Amino acid sequence: MKIVDLKCTVVEGYPLVRVDTDEGISGIAQIEKPKHYIKPHVLFYKRFIIGQDPTNVERVMLRIRNLGGFKPWGSAVSAIEIALWDIAGKAAGLPVYKLLGGKIRDRVLVYNTGIGPAPTGFTPEEYAESARRRKALPEGFKIFKFGVAFHTRMPAVIPNFFYGEVEEGPTPYPNRGRLTERGLKHIVECVKALKEVLGDEYGLALDCGPGFDVQSALSLAKALEPFNLMWLEDMITGDYTPYTAVEAYRLVSSNTTTPIHTGEQIYLRYGFKDLIENNAVDVIGPDPCDIGGLAELKWVAEFADLHGILIAPHGVFDGIIGVAALTQVCATLPKNFIAFEMPVIEPVWWELVKGLPNPLVKDGYVEVQDKPGLGVELNEKALAKYLPEGDDFLDYSSKK
Ligand SMILES: [Mg+2]
Repeated sequence: MKIVDLKCTVVEGYPLVRVDTDEGISGIAQIEKPKHYIKPHVLFYKRFIIGQDPTNVERVMLRIRNLGGFKPWGSAVSAIEIALWDIAGKAAGLPVYKLLGGKIRDRVLVYNTGIGPAPTGFTPEEYAESARRRKALPEGFKIFKFGVAFHTRMPAVIPNFFYGEVEEGPTPYPNRGRLTERGLKHIVECVKALKEVLGDEYGLALDCGPGFDVQSALSLAKALEPFNLMWLEDMITGDYTPYTAVEAYRLVSSNTTTPIHTGEQIYLRYGFKDLIENNAVDVIGPDPCDIGGLAELKWVAEFADLHGILIAPHGVFDGIIGVAALTQVCATLPKNFIAFEMPVIEPVWWELVKGLPNPLVKDGYVEVQDKPGLGVELNEKALAKYLPEGDDFLDYSSKK
């Protein structure tokens, strides 16, 4: 079998990727919604993979893996890897999890960041109201994550929040600096209000930065110790930070019982090596659509497990094909797996794809699908209506 084409289009803000073969089997993948600009970067890799056997996934990846980087520059390579596994699974008549070593769980726990009403502001009452409404969602989520501090507009909205000039856009997460005592107390009050709603029945995680200095991060982590949080995410680096600040994270995590988490922007096992070998964090959160794909994420999960580090993969904007990819790989991860971040799925996607059960989340879990490949297909007839004018995504003329 040979790769004959690589296609990319942008539908409803999400890049969609398809790899075609000379045997009529195609593989698909989806890239995070905010990365609508990544299409030319995906197509850049076409010259490297044409003519290769897609079922030798690793051999193809060796040709392109070193031509990627930390988020957002790992997403094209990751999407191609995921599409290759989809082809390999379809060619073998097996779900992707079987090719990754087999599943150790039949359903996969997810956590909720983006589904249901978000807090309408940054007061303790507004956080509590969001938690109340999200707790009542039919999906039955067991873990919730809320944005606070530099991950949100809290520094701009709450007076005297930190020692620095407030900046707002266009760069994501532009603020950084020492928290004021007032800022610290405000976050603690918000967490207290959230815990009053969620109690000890639900897990609570916070996405915090990037933007904290070591002492502010440590002060917050210690102040939040009585609340038994799931984790504090990306306090120092994260999101679009192209480095990992291993020493800074180690200073924080080794001095508090609150679990410290990072990793959604990190590319490849090499990006995680120092964090893991130094036990610089307690939980890592790679995204399969940024780290370099499914096999890369599995390798990093196993390596983290050797060091007593847990894993809770990122995925809030990975879309409906992203859910399929996350479920397939997370079914195979060792028992250091906590939960993956459930992507937000806009209603239109139930028209644009087929093969997945709706609703996907029951009692806080997604069931592992047994169809060949990722177990999800594009509904091309419906998709045609959503393609940009003159787009050639559904042109299969290169298939021989
Ligand atoms: Mg995050």
